[in-house]
Amino acid sequence: MRIWRGLLIVAIVGCGMNAFGEENTAERANVSVRPVLKSAGEARVWQADTRAKLFELLKMSDLVEREEPAPLDVEVLSSDFRDNFTLQEIEISSTPGRRIRIKVGFPNSVSGKAPGVVCIGGHGSTRNSPHDQADDSPYHAFGSALAEAGYVTVSPDVSQHEVYEDGRTLMGERLWDVMRCIDYLLARPDIDAGRIGCAGLSLGGEMAMWLGAMDTRCAATVSCGFLTVMDHMEQNHCMCWKLPGLRGLVDFPDIYALTAPRPLQCQNGLKEPETQFNVPLARQALEPIKEVYTLFGKPENVALHVHEGGHEVDVAALVSFMDEHLGRAKTDQD
Ligand SMILES: [Zn+2]
Repeated sequence: MRIWRGLLIVAIVGCGMNAFGEENTAERANVSVRPVLKSAGEARVWQADTRAKLFELLKMSDLVEREEPAPLDVEVLSSDFRDNFTLQEIEISSTPGRRIRIKVGFPNSVSGKAPGVVCIGGHGSTRNSPHDQADDSPYHAFGSALAEAGYVTVSPDVSQHEVYEDGRTLMGERLWDVMRCIDYLLARPDIDAGRIGCAGLSLGGEMAMWLGAMDTRCAATVSCGFLTVMDHMEQNHCMCWKLPGLRGLVDFPDIYALTAPRPLQCQNGLKEPETQFNVPLARQALEPIKEVYTLFGKPENVALHVHEGGHEVDVAALVSFMDEHLGRAKTDQD
């Protein structure tokens, strides 16, 4: 049985302002297609079942079902020493037949184990984008901010639009690469395995959604500039989010709900155009996510952070969320 969210509910609410001072949108969007869930137990079963079905759609089942992760064969290609952290260009094996390059940032002086964060860029980005210091970068160097604050960061490339290996899918290859970034973090002796997070903007926010949802090793997720619904993404957007069978199984809020009860922050900016990741639609999309967190008794673990900007990262909110849920490493100065 599907609940009201499975229907397209058109609620004309006029063009006044809501309690948040935002213009109401004319239609209530179709935001969820999951079955009714009445308890944490039912939610847990739905999550496991949906993850397995999604891995099948993504053509990743063979990769995730391996008993032992494939060797990473880490090769450090270069090191760039900054004031408080070091950036390295590193190559690892993603699948047994495919090598990828990642950018790794780590604080220069840490005592004890550090948390790790997978930092992900959007369309047109590279692994360097989360460290881009340019004034007009929508990433605002959030990766560097985390590395300076005591986190080990790892950034892959996800903005390709070709499928690398026969029998795979674009989204599946992107997701596998970000999951391998967690394998890489866990292989480092300086990492605390219980304190791994992920964060990204736009397509990177989408990949953070996928990574938090599908990889339960991820303890905290920040998804910027992406919380919306699939009906909205059918227009005015690159369609690389879509794969056969996806819409019959989940909408974006359902994918986010696979993260529950692990901490999740979504960021949407007030200056996002109506056609993009607008805040009123994000508020509607948040509701069915929060329902699942509530079933787990943790409604406080999911939040929509609305900021004054546009399609960009609010770095201060991101870092403080990671500080709260992962805890930054102790540096020698502490
Ligand atoms: Zn695309």
